[in-house]
Amino acid sequence: MFEDETIDVACPKCGHKNSILVREFEENAQTHFVCEKCRARVRIEAAEFKQRLDQVRQEVESLEREAARDARRPSRRPRKGDFQI
Ligand SMILES: [Zn+2]
Repeated sequence: MFEDETIDVACPKCGHKNSILVREFEENAQTHFVCEKCRARVRIEAAEFKQRLDQVRQEVESLEREAARDARRPSRRPRKGDFQI
């Protein structure tokens, strides 16, 4: 489920990306986390974050739609990463 997904939140002090459970934002108006790198306490307003979460969700949904569409289409397009010289 999406609720078990994590999202990277950059520390405002050192820029380290901390993985935060999406569920934390769903359940609390505010979320605190301690930066893994510099130990700074970071507070996140859920309302502010929800916008970003919605964007992420839309991206995930559109990716899933694309994947479903690709699965139905038998022709396989080589991706850039498939080429080797
Ligand atoms: Zn930090």
